[in-house]
Order: sequence, then C-alpha cells, then structure tokens
Amino acid sequence: MSKKELVFLPLGGSGEIGMNMNLYGFGTPNNRQWLMIDCGVMFGNLTTPGIDLICPDPSYILEERDALLGLLLTHGHEDHIGAVAHLAPLLGCPVYATPFTANLVQRKLSEREIKGVDLNIIEMDARFSLGPFDIEYVTLTHSIPEPSGVVLRTPLGTIFHTGDWKIDKAPTLGPDLDSAAIEKLGDDGLLAMVCDSTNVLSKGTSGSETDVRKSLTKLIAAQKGRVAVTTFASNVSRVVSICEAAAAADRSVCLLGRSMLRIVDAAREVGLLPEHLSFVEPKDAGHLPRRHILYLCTGSQGESRAALARIARNEHRDLTLSEDDTVIFSSKIIPGNDREIYDLQNLLVDLLR
Ligand SMILES: [Zn+2]
Repeated sequence: MSKKELVFLPLGGSGEIGMNMNLYGFGTPNNRQWLMIDCGVMFGNLTTPGIDLICPDPSYILEERDALLGLLLTHGHEDHIGAVAHLAPLLGCPVYATPFTANLVQRKLSEREIKGVDLNIIEMDARFSLGPFDIEYVTLTHSIPEPSGVVLRTPLGTIFHTGDWKIDKAPTLGPDLDSAAIEKLGDDGLLAMVCDSTNVLSKGTSGSETDVRKSLTKLIAAQKGRVAVTTFASNVSRVVSICEAAAAADRSVCLLGRSMLRIVDAAREVGLLPEHLSFVEPKDAGHLPRRHILYLCTGSQGESRAALARIARNEHRDLTLSEDDTVIFSSKIIPGNDREIYDLQNLLVDLLR
C-alpha cells in the first residue's frame, strides 16, 4: 500500500458523448492527489423527458475534495465546461482556462450569480505545477477557439490528455496545431495519450475550415432571397466564415439566438473576432432588401427553443421565411439529435416551398 501510482479515473465522457469529467491521481492508494480535466454536461433529448442538462456524478471526488489540486479546462464546449457553474463551488479548487474558455466560464458564473470561484486565466502554451503534476498546455485545432491538450508530467511518467481535437491543416482563426510540441512529446516518450476525437476510427483526413469557407461563399452568392444559416455558435471560425461569405455576396448579417450573441460577444472581448465584422439589429434587418440580408441562427441541432426552430414554426418575432428563401445547415448531426433535426428540417421544407 506504500507504492505510488498514477491513475486515470474518468467520471464522465468516456464511452459516451458529453459530460466530460476526467481525474488523474498520483500517490499511494491511501494518499493521492488529484487533478480534474474538464467538467461538462450532456443535454437531455427526447429520450430524457423533462431533463435539460445532465452533469457527471462527482460524489467520489467530493469525498476527496481536500486532495483535489485543480480543475483544468481544455476548451469551451458545453460538454467540457457546462458543469463548472454547477459543480465548481462544491469542488472548491482553483480552475484554469485560456482566455476565451475562461470568458465563457465567467459568463456562466455571473449568470448564476456564483462568486468566489478561483478562475485563473492562462496562456495557450502555459506551463505550471500543481503538487506532483508538471502541467503544460499544448495548442490543438478543433471547432472552437483555443482548444488545448494537457500534458501531465509526473515522477512515474507523462500523460498527454488531448481533450477534443482534429488536425486542421489550414485553420482560419487562431494559431495552428503545435505539431512541434506534439512530436517532441512522442520523442521524449509517453505513458499514454488519452484522446477524444469524433470519427477517430474513420479513415481519411478531416476537412479544413478554409475549404468550408470557399464552398459557403459560393453557395451564399448563388441565393436570391433571404438566407438563414445555422451553425454551432461556439464555432467562431465558422461564424466568421459565414460573415465573410455574406459580405462577399453584399449581405449584412443579423445574429439570432442568445448563444450566438453570447459567443460573438466573448470572441470580441478576447480579441478573436476580426475588427471589420459588424452586425445589424433584428429590428433593422427586416427592412433590408431580401437579397441583402443573412441571418445567422442558433438551433442547428433542432433545439426546440432556439431561433431556427421558432422561425420554422413561424413564431419568431423578427423573421418570417417564405418561398425563394434559403436555410443552410452548416453543421453536423450530433448522434442522438437526428430526430429533432429531421423534424425541424421537415417544418422548414413546408415553409419554403
Ligand atoms: Zn469539443
């Protein structure tokens, strides 16, 4: 019982989609110190009636709370940060995040009027120590700004915990993937790489945001009526691509949906958004000629209260679509949301024909 060990204990997110909560422990079984990586939620759907949000069960680590050295966040997706505002006050440890991710977390804490969380903003290539863990952030690429892998060096060896990532050879926003740092990790030797990447088992390479931007530009330029585009609000690169494509087609952009406004605001606050981007207010957008406006909407996953679902039901205060208008889904179907998305698309087909 006196031998020190390095243990990996996922409390959520392994073998399931959503609510990531990973623990790494170092020490003897009776005396371990812990680090948590990510603290996310899973969204309810048709299979969980009445439940909107699901958090991982933190009971184990709450019992070991005094030995929890910190919570490290890899990126700002809800399945990685969504439970921070719910659980950080219980965990009571310092939280570490890069500027954009920290901005999103701070907004959630403020919304819930939670004070006293020790939120530390770190650089994208930060290196610091907590107890026996020598921690280094490594810049990756993903569908949200500032995705970071975390290197944990311990006296028993090194772990590379990637969080979500893909290899985008031509990202349009933020730094490139730090391949030199990753290669060095390989050269120095790793005990394990704990890796999360959608479609990791599919052969081939992931597409680049640069290619998406080109095809969006072509597609939007070809439209004559109003255009509504939906995407994940957190995909700031995509939001910028859509805005640039709109500008190329001489269309102003109007943002619809709370999370779209929140993310664009956060991106602007940390200096991620190109300064020339501007937006028209919903009340003014309705007065613009149909071929000179593009609406950027939340609701790509069929969420019933999001902007696009309300537009589809003809219940949106600021926008009514009709034939000759176009709706573009610039988003994948997250497994489990198929039914909601197809229902939404059926409503839109009825509306636009
Ligand atoms: Zn992610």
